Amino acid sequence: TVRTRFAPSPTGFLHIGGARTALFSWAYARRHGGKFILRIEDTDVERSTPEAVQAILDGMQWLGLNHDEGPFYQMQRMARYKEVIGEMLAAGTAYLCYTTREELDALRADQEIRKEKPRYDGRWRPEAGKTLPPPPDVPPVVRFRNPLDGVVAWDDQVKGRIEFANGELDDFIIARADGTPTYNFCVVVDDWDMAITHVIRGDDHVNNTPRQINLLQALGAPVPCYAHLSMILGDDGQKLSKRHGAVSVMQYDDDGYLPEAVVNYLARLGWSHGDEEVFSMDQFAQWFDLDHITASAAQFNTEKLNWLNAHYIKAAAPQRLAAETMRRLARQGVATTDGPDVARVAALYRDRASNLNDLADAVHPFYVIPQASEEVRAQHLTESARKALAVLREHLSDCAWQAAALGQLVKQTATELGLKMPQVAIPLRVALLGLPQSPAIDAVLEVMGRNQVLKRLDTVLS
Ligand code: GLU
Repeated sequence: TVRTRFAPSPTGFLHIGGARTALFSWAYARRHGGKFILRIEDTDVERSTPEAVQAILDGMQWLGLNHDEGPFYQMQRMARYKEVIGEMLAAGTAYLCYTTREELDALRADQEIRKEKPRYDGRWRPEAGKTLPPPPDVPPVVRFRNPLDGVVAWDDQVKGRIEFANGELDDFIIARADGTPTYNFCVVVDDWDMAITHVIRGDDHVNNTPRQINLLQALGAPVPCYAHLSMILGDDGQKLSKRHGAVSVMQYDDDGYLPEAVVNYLARLGWSHGDEEVFSMDQFAQWFDLDHITASAAQFNTEKLNWLNAHYIKAAAPQRLAAETMRRLARQGVATTDGPDVARVAALYRDRASNLNDLADAVHPFYVIPQASEEVRAQHLTESARKALAVLREHLSDCAWQAAALGQLVKQTATELGLKMPQVAIPLRVALLGLPQSPAIDAVLEVMGRNQVLKRLDTVLS
């Protein structure tokens, strides 16, 4: 069965690139009825933090990327890594290397003069039947006995066939002098122990892959399929970075995006299914394949994300939209409990909002009596406008509270006073919402409710 993993290093937030890697790995497992494993690669103790672990878990949860196994923490697997290192030393697929810092520096300087790539020269690599006596007082590192000849190759599911000459890879360190295992080694033991069948990750790891494959083979472990995803460029064609604003996935939550919009957007970032642009996560999980991942870099397009966000805001269930709106209003200290039903207010504005923060801003004046600017008041709450509002107020104090009837009343008031409908409706909007524009005034009246409407009119008229 298919087993994929997402293996973030908890040194920062879950960013857009990581989220897409996680999404693709998740989808591949779902598509094939397999398992999706979460592994936290926290061996860089200097840079890993529990906050970053939490931020990654939060980001994945927000996106709906549920894992089937884990999270596994590499720091909790140290005993296992040491066990495998012991086995490799015993089997001769790894060896102790006593080269000192000074010797390595001298080697490097020498290679530099000869314009060679810096690489370990294998001086402690044991030859058949011959082992060197260890020097005193030098704590050894453990090196992998990399094949000397031939090539290591794989059919990358995104990039096609990739080959490295073994002669270009040196006997890299798998355990440091203090015994701690190195990055490539931990990844290999984990992918093996977790029976990973498909490694989907960023193409910044392409250079690690030949080393990992050689290690797997030395261990007699199966080699998974690899799919290296090209990087994501910003709107401006530059490498995606903090300069592009939202780097953390959770920043998109703060910025007013629905997770389904972000997921849909990420799904299309470097993968396609014909002309399909709008699809749910479940649909994606049924369609996703490695064949349609684009090999070239994907470019971020904020406009498209906004368009998808508008789509999902329109499509969201009323209660969902209400909850999102309330959460955002609560962040501004605005309580909605005493006002009209948020679902109904949000429904008035959803079709024109492409962002949840804009939606919350639009809904806001239903819960906090707005102060129209001096300018707006001077322009719209003129003497004759006030008179019209006073007449309307009388009608509104005693009528059926239902949109059609309310709209009729506004019209009737205008007719009574020899005014045009907007000459009543616009001052009414200013009185109720502090703004000259709003959705249909009859709907605004109905949703706001009689008490609030009368209260706001009285405030303006007093
Ligand atoms: N921990 C690595 C990273 O965050 C990913 C390793 C992998 O997927 O093999 O870049």
